[in-house]
Amino acid sequence: MRIKSVTLHIISMPLKKPFVTHLQKVEEREGIIIEVRDKEGVCGLGEGVAFSTPWYTEETVKTSHHMLKDVLIPLMNSKSFHHPEEIGKRFEAVRGNAMAKAALEMALWDLYARQKGVPLWNLIGGTREEVLAGAVVGAGSIPEMINQAEDLVKEGYQRIKLKISPGADVEIVKELRSHFPNLSLLADANSAYSLEDVPRLQALDEFDLEMIEQPLGIDDLVEHSLLQKEISTPICLDESIVTPHDMRSAIHLNSCGVVNIKLGRVGGYSSALEIYRLCREHDIKVWCGGMIEFGVSRAHNLALSTLEGFRIPGDISSSSKYWEEDIITSPIVVRNGVVDRLEGPGIGVELNRKRLSAVTQFKEDFTLDETHNKF
Ligand SMILES: [Mg+2]
Repeated sequence: MRIKSVTLHIISMPLKKPFVTHLQKVEEREGIIIEVRDKEGVCGLGEGVAFSTPWYTEETVKTSHHMLKDVLIPLMNSKSFHHPEEIGKRFEAVRGNAMAKAALEMALWDLYARQKGVPLWNLIGGTREEVLAGAVVGAGSIPEMINQAEDLVKEGYQRIKLKISPGADVEIVKELRSHFPNLSLLADANSAYSLEDVPRLQALDEFDLEMIEQPLGIDDLVEHSLLQKEISTPICLDESIVTPHDMRSAIHLNSCGVVNIKLGRVGGYSSALEIYRLCREHDIKVWCGGMIEFGVSRAHNLALSTLEGFRIPGDISSSSKYWEEDIITSPIVVRNGVVDRLEGPGIGVELNRKRLSAVTQFKEDFTLDETHNKF
């Protein structure tokens, strides 16, 4: 693919409002924006979605930076390649670190599509012209959560996700359901429960949730399969599905009826497309999860969500839900619960250089001829 250079921008931006889960209150979002440039000057964009601290997975912005700089960029540069899929395979030699791998792999897919002059959604076989958008209500008091949900419904979001944890669950879901009798609601537990909580989780069955996301351990598949036998609400796995192998195991065990596919969590497109294929083959529903991300990752999520199987609204909110000003020139906008797919080459967005430099804390350039043969 004739890569000439890679640039990493480590950025930090305050959220308009803090985002609260039982694990973490996110007030300031750090992230890594990656530019991969070829010899003709065409530029592909990726985004590292690890948080500042390891509350969602083990990765952080600092570990991603280390992996990119010291391992993944040199590995990418260790021999030539013709397609970004080869890099997805090559990165399998490195254990874990899915978000760091995804950040660079996503940039290469974007670059490849731009080199061909086609939208990335087209390259991966997407067909949807509009992507269905849902949004997340962070944890808070019941009136606060109802207010947040009301605002989102007014903005047209078609599905609302609630963050729940033991003691902040049945009452919240009951109130939200009675307030919005016909709204598509789902609850995300971010691993807050154990099998001892089966009665509490059974108590949620009557509220007609679309699904309950990741109730049990972050790396568990067996207990989720036991729980699914006890509750009628479909289980959606998030944190537990990192690789296609995890997905095959979840299928064997009947651990879930739904999977939230996040490019960052699964290490990029090669893995995400394989997980998607497995889900389609086995009648498991899919949707695209969010990571409180900036516009580059949002545009990648949009491309992925044009695949036919993404029938459940994803965490694809407007840039303006979190940011005063995003780092792309045309912010993502949800209208009446949908986002139009982006028609430009690659992911269809460009960097807002002024905004990017205003929020950049650290920038690093790699000229690949210099790093060649170091790995
Ligand atoms: Mg989740």
